Amino acid sequence: MKHIPPPTLRLDIDTQALADNWRSLDRLSGTARAGAAVKADCYGLGVDICVPVLRDAGCRDFFVAHWSEVPPVLAHVPAAQLAVLHGPQSAEDVAFARETGVRPVIDSIRQAKLWIDGGGGPCHLMIDTGINRLGIAPAEISDPIVQSLDVQILMSHLACADEDSAMNVRQFDTFRSCIDMIKHKESSLANSAGIALGSEFAFDLTRPGLSLYGGVPRDELKPHIQQVVSPKAALIQTRTIAAGDRVGYNATFTASKAMRIGVVSLGYADGILRSWNGAQFRHGQAALPVLGKVSMDMIVLDLSKAPDLTDGDWLELPYYLPDAAQQTALSQYELLTVLGKRFG
Ligand SMILES: *Cc1c(COP(=O)(O)O)cnc(C)c1O
Repeated sequence: MKHIPPPTLRLDIDTQALADNWRSLDRLSGTARAGAAVKADCYGLGVDICVPVLRDAGCRDFFVAHWSEVPPVLAHVPAAQLAVLHGPQSAEDVAFARETGVRPVIDSIRQAKLWIDGGGGPCHLMIDTGINRLGIAPAEISDPIVQSLDVQILMSHLACADEDSAMNVRQFDTFRSCIDMIKHKESSLANSAGIALGSEFAFDLTRPGLSLYGGVPRDELKPHIQQVVSPKAALIQTRTIAAGDRVGYNATFTASKAMRIGVVSLGYADGILRSWNGAQFRHGQAALPVLGKVSMDMIVLDLSKAPDLTDGDWLELPYYLPDAAQQTALSQYELLTVLGKRFG
């Protein structure tokens, strides 16, 4: 095919900030080391961009959710450093794990049996200490099939680490009580928010995801975490409309006076949802409010504060996750993973 012209929308990823965020989270983990959750294509930012950066920063422990997410990550890190959180669902998954050397996280007695029946080997073990999602119950640890596992990392997952909830200490205590119940090499409990709960939550390995990519799930992390993602889009048309003119689907905006407006080439298909009331783009210091409804591929902006802007000029959508989460009523996780595939 001929050379494909570059898209008129771009996701700038600050790889220096990504590396710094991992180093900060590693330091905040105290004597423990930080790993990295790289599931969902590094929360939508791209495995090929992010995993080499995390690896070069010093990360040695990577987590995905699905077996289908393994190959892209294996292009950058050794198999023994990669774990699949959802564990094996079938003999086929077991065979794939053993063939590649990627570590399954065993989440149930059924999975433990599948793993052992398929030949077994080094694995991780998830204990459910209260989230009631994946993991074996503490009472199941004594099951002979579980005891026969070659457990590398004993882990659990916090349900409420982003809140000051009594659940946190309850889960911590439950996890502590499981530590002596099965032979294992290392233990791991904290996600991003869990790192901020105190060094006792770090155990041997922490598993941040969100905060690597600029998310701030607790205020304690604010001084340590830098923004990583910045959506940008080019103006593809500018025009002047008259008082009384309307803008966009369902004509929800009516101009009260003549005004200069512009169209940027991104929309809800790219993850900029209609729920973002009061969204503003920026050009330098100038704030450029969204007019009317967001379309699938386009957003119309009020250019009153920067009347010299013209076709081809690039604008930025401020995407500081804590602020954007408040404005959109989406979680910081959703704001990352909702970003579409058309960005260049
Ligand atoms: C996604 C995930 C993480 C990372 O959590 P963040 O809140 O994004 O830091 C850690 N552990 C498990 C088991 C996960 O599923």
